[in-house]
Amino acid sequence: MTDWTREFPFELRVCQWAEREWPPGESLDPGKQVLVGRQLGTRDRRWDTVVAVCDTEALRQRAVFGEQALDRNLLRVVRNAPFEFEWYRDALTLWTTDWRYVREAVKDAADRDLIETRRRNNRIELRRRWEYPDWLDALIAIENKPDLDRSAADALADQMERDVAFGLADEAWVATLQTGDAAEPGLLADMPVEAGVLAVDPAGGDSSSDQSTVLWHPRTLAVEDPGTRILDRPSDSEYDHSAAEFEYVDADWKALARLAIGERLYERGWRSYIDSMRPDCRHFGLETVGEDATASLQPQCAAKDRCPSTWECGGRCSEFEPEPPAWRSMGWPIEGGPGKGLRSVLEARRERKRPK
Ligand code: SF4
Repeated sequence: MTDWTREFPFELRVCQWAEREWPPGESLDPGKQVLVGRQLGTRDRRWDTVVAVCDTEALRQRAVFGEQALDRNLLRVVRNAPFEFEWYRDALTLWTTDWRYVREAVKDAADRDLIETRRRNNRIELRRRWEYPDWLDALIAIENKPDLDRSAADALADQMERDVAFGLADEAWVATLQTGDAAEPGLLADMPVEAGVLAVDPAGGDSSSDQSTVLWHPRTLAVEDPGTRILDRPSDSEYDHSAAEFEYVDADWKALARLAIGERLYERGWRSYIDSMRPDCRHFGLETVGEDATASLQPQCAAKDRCPSTWECGGRCSEFEPEPPAWRSMGWPIEGGPGKGLRSVLEARRERKRPK
């Protein structure tokens, strides 16, 4: 029986629900689809669950650039590469202090066959192979807090205010565990009015829509405007007379950061958690939670008798035991033993969501 007040299994369940049901209570526009990722963001801020609303046709065109994510520098190169060969310094802008770094990005892009390059008169020229499509329509950030007690709510409210001021995601949500109380904790928490609040019942219903209730609808954030990054703010103490510190972030920086997050989401999806766990441990397994339309797979540790977090199920786990070699020669369905087989199952599910 899963303890849904633990963040990791709750987060996986929210990801699975979002993949089926986004946007909650509404239909997705024709020609759109969603991809879901987890633990993505910028250097300063990571969101638990991230939903990318994508243009399906453009997403299909994105596939020619490969499954691997394009980072910010590669995005700068592929999006600005000209149709005809041109010296890279004429075609691109200097985004760092030194052209050498731009040249390195051009070389990386060429090594991955994202662009074409040639050398003429001792100059590196480049041209595009394909047009980089405009596939990312919106990014939705969801913070998962199944156990929203008073101190968790205060910390989260502060974080949500920062997210709203920054405006990097189109919508910011909090997902809490549905308690069935007349007033759900998510509603009582002092969140900014721009943030949406969801109550999720991970074990609920036999259809996905039974699994969640929107307690508060979010406002769309101004992703195309400059953002405000709150660096420091006074505490509630009567003795703290310090001023808030903040800086502005320009809209171009935000646009590129959003796309880079979308790219990592495209590569990893949300099932890549298995990459940082030990499926090669004899105690590791995947169990089905939910029924019918809501069924999904979740890691299960036979030794701990629960869904282990990625932190628990790693190199430091004292209960780790490697798969017995005999397991790998028993004709397990996928060559390499059960652990490798489980990884393949999750990878196949991720692939199905990514159009070719
Ligand atoms: S015993 Fe440790 S390493 Fe093995 S599955 Fe459980 S948590 Fe993971």
